[in-house]
Amino acid sequence: MIEANPAPETAASPAAPPSTTLVLSARSLRRAYGSTLALDGVDLDIRTGESVAIMGPSGSGKSTLLHTLAGIERPDSGSVLFTPAHGAPREITALGESERSGLRRGSFGFVFQSGLLIPELTAVENVAMALLINGTPRAAALPRATEWLRALGLGGMEERRIGQLSGGQTQRVAIARAQVTGAQVTFADEPTGALDSGTGAEVLAILMDSTTGRGNTLVMVTHDAEVAARCDRTIRLRDGRILAEQTAAAASGSPRTETPGTAQ
Ligand code: ADP
Repeated sequence: MIEANPAPETAASPAAPPSTTLVLSARSLRRAYGSTLALDGVDLDIRTGESVAIMGPSGSGKSTLLHTLAGIERPDSGSVLFTPAHGAPREITALGESERSGLRRGSFGFVFQSGLLIPELTAVENVAMALLINGTPRAAALPRATEWLRALGLGGMEERRIGQLSGGQTQRVAIARAQVTGAQVTFADEPTGALDSGTGAEVLAILMDSTTGRGNTLVMVTHDAEVAARCDRTIRLRDGRILAEQTAAAASGSPRTETPGTAQ
């Protein structure tokens, strides 16, 4: 059974600096769809507590990279090593579907542009679902889900169905669902893409507080340079290769540094 993750006491917590421990390490990832190379030799190390934005034009391989790091898709070749907080490192790319599915339910959280919540269920049931499928009894899952919704500013909306919530509220439910199991790594694909800029900024702040703010890791696909600017690092893809990588400046606010990637 996966332990429930206590909700944060407050929405805002100071971001801890990323550690030097690698949580995900990808090597020589290749994935072809017919003649299209979606990933063409990607190497990427992600540290515990780090926020990483993946940018690039449409079709550059962003979603394929995110899905491959998360064990949703398997590459044709190459490896992804995941180091859990407790236990030995695991090569995700060598695991079978049921083991990868177990990792996705327990160690990873997912927030997509459209939320991908179950419309027939209430907000609290959607969040609790992440615990129920891991074997947490309903009597424990519902109070934990309620705590998370309240911590993310949705107190009083627990019994609403997804269609009765605004876009920003829906994304908060999706974040609560992604975090309630204690996900070590959260993968987000355009989490603010369907929101107006003000609501998007609020949702992004909540996403960061509830992931890197708690020492966990966030890997996020975005088209939005302002969203990427909030991350510790930005990876730029083109034609399935890492073209360049930008690291956020130190707290001093000095300009970002740009490091060319390995792509030719
Ligand atoms: P991005 O997220 O940057 O838009 P994707 O990772 O979705 O890029 O896709 C990279 C390339 O792989 C694109 O050319 C896309 O058309 C192709 N591709 C992705 N998924 C599939 C699929 N299931 N079948 C065929 N081609 C695909």
